[in-house]
Amino acid sequence: MADVQLKHIQKVYDKNVMAIKDASIEIKDKEFVVLVGPSGCGKSTLLRMIAGLEEITDGDLLIDEQRVNDMSPKDRDIAMVFQNYALYPHMTVFENMAFGLKLRKYPKAEIQKRVTDAANILGLTKYLKRRPKEMSGGQRQRVAIGRAIVRQPKVFLFDEPLSNLDAKLRVQMRTEIKRLHKQLDATMIYVTHDQVEAMTMGDKIVVLKDGDVQQVDTPMNLYNNPANKFVGSFIGSPGMNFVDGEVKDGQFTAEGIQFSIPANYQVTNGPVILGIRPESFYNINYEKERQLTEAQEIQLDVIEPIGAETFLYFQMGGKQICMRSTSGIIYQDGQSIQIAIDQEKLFFFDAQTENRIA
Ligand code: ADP
Repeated sequence: MADVQLKHIQKVYDKNVMAIKDASIEIKDKEFVVLVGPSGCGKSTLLRMIAGLEEITDGDLLIDEQRVNDMSPKDRDIAMVFQNYALYPHMTVFENMAFGLKLRKYPKAEIQKRVTDAANILGLTKYLKRRPKEMSGGQRQRVAIGRAIVRQPKVFLFDEPLSNLDAKLRVQMRTEIKRLHKQLDATMIYVTHDQVEAMTMGDKIVVLKDGDVQQVDTPMNLYNNPANKFVGSFIGSPGMNFVDGEVKDGQFTAEGIQFSIPANYQVTNGPVILGIRPESFYNINYEKERQLTEAQEIQLDVIEPIGAETFLYFQMGGKQICMRSTSGIIYQDGQSIQIAIDQEKLFFFDAQTENRIA
């Protein structure tokens, strides 16, 4: 197994499309790293450069300390699993999994053993004689993963492997891939646009936007300490709420909200963006433990009960704000309530750069 280092990697496509600006990422041996970001942010480009399918414009790519920029894909000892499975339709499941090993002239007994072992791990033993068209989407994706496993590569790359599956199967496969990671003890790099997939699967997450690395961190650190407004909004569902306001002499003020900023936040006078996660609002009548900001009266617009929790929507600072309630209290449309924010859960972002300031 292996560690992978990206040092100031840059990718410029034809016509000066700057797909990756300057990416430096360290991926440790046996780590599960997720590259996440909205469509077009450059995550596939980054993965394809690691695989050797796309030329690196500038910077160094190291696998186990060795520079591999100019090494061909087949010599990099990397296996990639694609979104569309890329199986051979005329071959059986066994033949699909064995194909890469056959090409590399592995002895027959070794191929038999590796395919049997991989089929076991993936629950495909019963299906080895079937062809891809006789399999479900989830089973086909497992075959594609099996084909990677039998190679026993240094690094596994996954390019949105679950996008073609329905929601329920996606959740199931998510757990399976995570379990597989533990079982194989391998370095895995996984691309997705789905922040929930990223949060649930990654040891470490790389958040990308417009070809720029925004933050590299553990899931909980991204959630609790976003480096900027983009990361705050991208990680978490429903996303973080933002209110544009003004700080003056320790007070935050925006339309419909005013409170004293606790002393441990260092925010200077001027325009600022306040970030609040939906779960950090409290109905002051029911919260006695936490230190809250001064109460504000708000009027509920929309109420979304979804069982264990209810999402309450209201206007603040000219924006629609979402608050999460887990108390089980039944709220009414149009009802006015007194709310406040957990003093430890305030996020302040610079109004210009949108970087986190406190
Ligand atoms: P993502 O995987 O995050 O959706 P991509 O890596 O596919 O993003 O693309 C990043 C940027 O590079 C986009 O602006 C995309 O249009 C551009 N791009 C991708 N592939 C090519 C290509 N072969 N030629 C020119 N531009 C490309």
